[in-house]
Amino acid sequence: MYKITLDPGHGGSDPGGVYGDLIEKDITLTIAVECEKELLRHGIKVQMTRYTDKYLGLSQRTTMANNNMSDYFISIHCNVGGGDRGEIIYSIYNGKGLEITNKISNEIMNIGQTQVKTYNRMNKNGRDYFPLVRDTIMDAIIIKCAFIDNEEDNKIISTIENQKIFGKAIAKGILSQLDIDCTDVD
Ligand SMILES: [Zn+2]
Repeated sequence: MYKITLDPGHGGSDPGGVYGDLIEKDITLTIAVECEKELLRHGIKVQMTRYTDKYLGLSQRTTMANNNMSDYFISIHCNVGGGDRGEIIYSIYNGKGLEITNKISNEIMNIGQTQVKTYNRMNKNGRDYFPLVRDTIMDAIIIKCAFIDNEEDNKIISTIENQKIFGKAIAKGILSQLDIDCTDVD
């Protein structure tokens, strides 16, 4: 049975990006809970790093995933700072990081995101720059669904309903990476 760790970014004293009423830590949790629901429905074992509004450091998150021996670590975020796109950062040390990135990217485009930038970033020592994908022992990705301070992106991320649609899209991408039929996810 496949095991996935879903990591809703930020939490507790760390709100992440904030724009008006939109708070990244709340959005990421809504998306992750919806994603979990779809994965569970398809027989995937899901580990959530948090279900509540609590603070977790990056190393607590990666340690949870490592101890669970998950197949994939999926960290869910939003962006701020004036772009109009999604982004997915994938770990460099294993080919499946890019595969699942492409699957999820396709699904996010299908729900109306105009562009998804996919990339990795290497340290001088050749390892991943971002701790969430570097310190996890499995294929790991960081999904930045949309820019919460962008007018266009706001149309697809600002409501709970929209956020649940992101959760379903991410689930579809994960399921298709695992070769599990996801045509019943609407
Ligand atoms: Zn974030």
